[in-house]
Amino acid sequence: MVKIKIDQAKTILQRKKAELQKILDSIRAQDPSNMPGWEDENTQDDDAFERESKSRVDALEKRTLESFANVNRSLAKIEHETYGICDACGKEIDPARLKMIPEASYCIHCQRNVE
Ligand SMILES: [Zn+2]
Repeated sequence: MVKIKIDQAKTILQRKKAELQKILDSIRAQDPSNMPGWEDENTQDDDAFERESKSRVDALEKRTLESFANVNRSLAKIEHETYGICDACGKEIDPARLKMIPEASYCIHCQRNVE
């Protein structure tokens, strides 16, 4: 049986976390509502364009935040020595699955039920 290397998983997760943080920063930098003058001096054309780009940015931000939360949860599980245990059924998550998705919180069976 393949054993998960916790140290390795931790390194990957920390790298992922840093990457996601960078992506979040750049998403927020693009968010028109964070820009000075938003809603103040726009023509109607600008508004429509900015609303549309804002909803796209919001969707991207939401997805990135979800991954970020997953990575954080996995890092917390490493701290509590519960990494590799399914959040739902408490059984071991297939190490092959963790190798592919280090931030997986559920085993393959429970993941299907969650989705
Ligand atoms: Zn499970």
